[in-house]
This record gives sequence, C-alpha cells and structure tokens, in this order.
Amino acid sequence: PRPIVAIIGRPNVGKSTIVNRLAGRKEAIVHDEPGITRDRTYKQAFWCDREFQVVDTGGLVFDDDSEFLPEIREQARLALGEAQVAILVVDGQMGPTAADREIADWLRQQPVPVVLAVNKCESLDQGLIQAAEFWELGIGDPFPVSGIHGSGMGDLLDAVIAYL
Ligand code: GDP
Ligand code: MG
Repeated sequence: PRPIVAIIGRPNVGKSTIVNRLAGRKEAIVHDEPGITRDRTYKQAFWCDREFQVVDTGGLVFDDDSEFLPEIREQARLALGEAQVAILVVDGQMGPTAADREIADWLRQQPVPVVLAVNKCESLDQGLIQAAEFWELGIGDPFPVSGIHGSGMGDLLDAVIAYL
C-alpha cells in the first residue's frame, strides 16, 4: 500500500488548497467556511519517484474556548495512526495562534514525524520572515509555502518524502 501523509491544522489555514496542489488536480472541495471538512478524504499524490496518499483531516475544530474537541482529536489520532508523516499547516499571514500552539503541543506527543508548512507565503522575502515566527511551535524547520501559487512545495515535499 502507498504510504500516507496526514494534513493537520486548524480551519482556514489552507489544508484543502495544499491537498489539491499535492494531488495535482482539484478533486477535494475547498471550503471557505472554517471547520466544514470533517471527513477524512484520501488523494493520490507523488513527488520525485515516491507515490503516497494525502489525507485531509479537515476538521481540527476548536470551540470558543479554543478547546481541542475530543471527537475531533480522535479523528486526527485515527488519521495519524495510519500515517508515516504529518504536515502541520499554519497561516503565515496571521502568525502563530493559540490553536496552532495547542495542535503543535498535541502533535509533539504523537509518535509520528511532523513537517511544518507555513502557508499563504506568496512573497519569497516576506515568507522567510513569516515562517521564522513559527519556530516557537517546537515542530522544527518552518517551510514557507503558497498552496495557491505552488511556491515552496518542492522543499516541503523533499522533507516529507524523507520520512516515507
Ligand atoms: P482549510 O480550511 O484549512 O482546508 O483551508 P482552505 O484550503 O479551505 O483555504 C482557506 C482560505 O485560505 C481560502 O479562502 C483559500 O483561498 C485561502 N488560501 C489557501 N491557500 C492560500 C495561499 O497559499 N495563499 C493565500 N493568500 N490564501 C490561501
Ligand atoms: Mg478544508
């Protein structure tokens, strides 16, 4: 079976956009409404000579108290359980949020390697500055990417397939 890459992150950071970019075709529906994608959807993807499946965990939803809801945590845990590596997606234009820190804290306790994608970094120079803000999450090297433009995806995927 092809290895699995789990896409994790709070709503609206661009997970579906990145999944569509990785899958190379627009099969997954992109929802602007936060938290609408609750089901796990699998897409075929490849980079260099590696084929893998991307699973969009979609609904890492937080209530008003920014609480990581148990059923959503369970869904993410199920997705991570079958994944060889996870991509944590964050919003580079917004900077680190409480929800990002909460997800990162949880991810660091899971036995799955995580690669950090700082999305919405359309400008190369600014993207590097934006990405550097996310070192504080303790996930390691932040990769600036733009899911919309496709920039930065090569470096991100090189880091991802190193775990496959
Ligand atoms: P998800 O909720 O994490 O799946 O996020 P979506 O993929 O649905 O994207 C949420 C919003 O962010 C949409 O309005 C997208 O158009 C926007 N978005 C996604 N990727 C990028 C990007 O690389 N740059 C910018 N500027 N906006 C993006
Ligand atoms: Mg989505």
